[in-house]
Amino acid sequence: MLLFKTARVEDEWASPSLDPTLRELIEFLVLQAGSLFGLDVTLTCIYRSPAEDAELYHDNNHVPGVHTQWRGADVSVKDYTWAQAKQLCNVGNRRWQYDPGRPWLPCFLFETSGDYSTAAHIHCQTDPPLTKPIDILADSEIGNAL
Ligand SMILES: [Zn+2]
Repeated sequence: MLLFKTARVEDEWASPSLDPTLRELIEFLVLQAGSLFGLDVTLTCIYRSPAEDAELYHDNNHVPGVHTQWRGADVSVKDYTWAQAKQLCNVGNRRWQYDPGRPWLPCFLFETSGDYSTAAHIHCQTDPPLTKPIDILADSEIGNAL
C-alpha cells in the first residue's frame, strides 16, 4: 500500500506536475515491498522548491536537484531493515534504467541520514524521457528471483 507522510505529499502525488515515469517507479516499489516483505511504502517528500532545496543543502548556490523538477521522491525506511531497503533498491535498479548514457546513475538510491538528509530513506529519481523499464525479468518473476 502507498502511504503519505503529509497531506502536502499526498497532494503532490495527485498533481499533474509529477513525472509519470516517477509515478510508475513508485508503483513498482509498492508492489515489490508488498510481495517481498509485506511492507507499505510511505512517501515523505516529492516536490521541493529551489529555495527549499538550497536550504536543505545549506548552500544558496546549490544547483536545484531532481525534487525541484517533480522527478524525485523519497521513501521512508523506518519500518525496513537496511538490508531490506537495499534489496528494494537493487530490485528497482534491475527493473529501471535512469539513463542509458549514464549507467552509473541509479533510479533508486539508499541514503543514510547525514548532511543532506534528516533520516535514512530511499531516494527515487527519473530523467524523462530517458528513464525506461529494463526487461531483464518478467514482472511475475521479480519478487521471487531476487
Ligand atoms: Zn530525494
